[in-house]
Amino acid sequence: MITIKPFSPSAFVLILLACFVLFACTETNKTAQPIVKEEVYAFGTLVNITLYGLPEAKAYEIIGAVVNDFSYLENVWHPWKAGSLGRVNQLLPTKSAFSTGPGVIQLMTEARKLSRMSDDYFNPAIGALVKLWGFHQDEIPLGPPPSLADIENILKQKPSLDNLDIKGFTVRSNNEAVILDFGGFAKGYAVQQVIDHIKALGATNAIINVGGDLHVIGNKAGQPWRIGIRNPRGQGILASIDVEGSESVFTSGDYERFYEYQGKRYHHILDPQTGFPVQGVSSVTVVHSSPATADAAATALFVAGPVHWRNIAKQMSLHEVMLIDDKGVIYMTPEMQQRIRFEIEPRPKIIVQR
Ligand code: AMP
Ligand code: MG
Repeated sequence: MITIKPFSPSAFVLILLACFVLFACTETNKTAQPIVKEEVYAFGTLVNITLYGLPEAKAYEIIGAVVNDFSYLENVWHPWKAGSLGRVNQLLPTKSAFSTGPGVIQLMTEARKLSRMSDDYFNPAIGALVKLWGFHQDEIPLGPPPSLADIENILKQKPSLDNLDIKGFTVRSNNEAVILDFGGFAKGYAVQQVIDHIKALGATNAIINVGGDLHVIGNKAGQPWRIGIRNPRGQGILASIDVEGSESVFTSGDYERFYEYQGKRYHHILDPQTGFPVQGVSSVTVVHSSPATADAAATALFVAGPVHWRNIAKQMSLHEVMLIDDKGVIYMTPEMQQRIRFEIEPRPKIIVQR
C-alpha cells in the first residue's frame, strides 16, 4: 500500500496470528523443526514474518533483511512524503519531462499494465481524489466528505496512468490531474520484492503477512499453511484456505479505513467513475501466485462490484476470487469454491459464477 495506511492492529490480524501460532506449534512439536516468528511495524502496518525450517541465526538474519527492505521501500514509494514518488508527484503536474529512478519507473510500468487489464477500475492515477477525501494521510479523516464540485473538477480531467509517457528513466504527464497513489498496489509489489530477496537468502518455507495480506512460499513439514479470511461484517474468521508453494492471499475491504459522517460510512476505496467510495461491496479476496497482481486485483474487483467483477477477473487472468456484497451475499469463481472452507454457521448464500 502506499498511501502508507496505518492499519489498526485489527482483531483479524490477531486471529490470523493465533491461527498460525496454533498450527505452527503443533507442527513444531511433531517434527522438531524450528519455526521463527517476528512481528514488526513497517510499511505503516503490522508485518508478521514466519520462517520455517531454518537455523535460528539464519532466520533472524533474514528477518533483519525484511525489515530493512520494507523501511526502504516505504520511504521511496510514499506518495506524499519527501521520497522518490513524492518528487514524481510534485513534478508530474508541470507536464514537463523529468528523470526518476528505475525502481519507481518499474512500479509505474507494472501498475499501468494491471490498470489497463482492469479497465482502470484499479487506477493509481487518482491520487488527487484520494487526497481530496483525506485518505492520503496516516490519520483517518473525520469528514465532512468533499464537495461535489471539487470531485467533479478532478473527474472531468479523467486522470489515468495512460496519461504518462515513460521513456527509459524519463516521465512526462499530459494531464495535470494525474497524481500517483499506489495505496492499492505497493504493498503487494513490495511483498513480491521481499519474497525474492528472502528466497535468495535461503528461505524456502515462509509467510510474509503485511496487515493481513500475505504471500507464502513452501509449506510446513509438507503441510500447507492455513489462512483465515476475515468476516467483513462481524468478528472473526469467515472462511479459511490452505495455501502453499508460492501463493498470495490479498483482501480489499471497506472496514480497513473509513469514517462515519452524519450516519453514513465513507471508506477508502474510490470509484474512479463516480469519485465516491464504492457502494455495495464489503470485501474482495484474491488468491494468486503474484502478490503485486493479487493486491491490484483485489482493489480492481472491489470497484468493479457484483456486476462487473467476473469479466474483469477473466481479463486479469484471475482464477480464485471471492466478493462479498454489502448484504453478505458471496460471489466466487468455481476454483475458489473448490478451495475455500467456511468456518461459520449457517453457511452463507453463495453464487458461483463461471
Ligand atoms: P487496497 O486496500 O489494496 O484495496 O487499497 C486501497 C487504497 O488504494 C486506498 O487507501 C487508496 O490509497 C487507493 N485507492 C483507492 N481507490 C483506488 C482505485 N480505484 N484504484 C487504485 N487505488 C485506489
Ligand atoms: Mg489492493
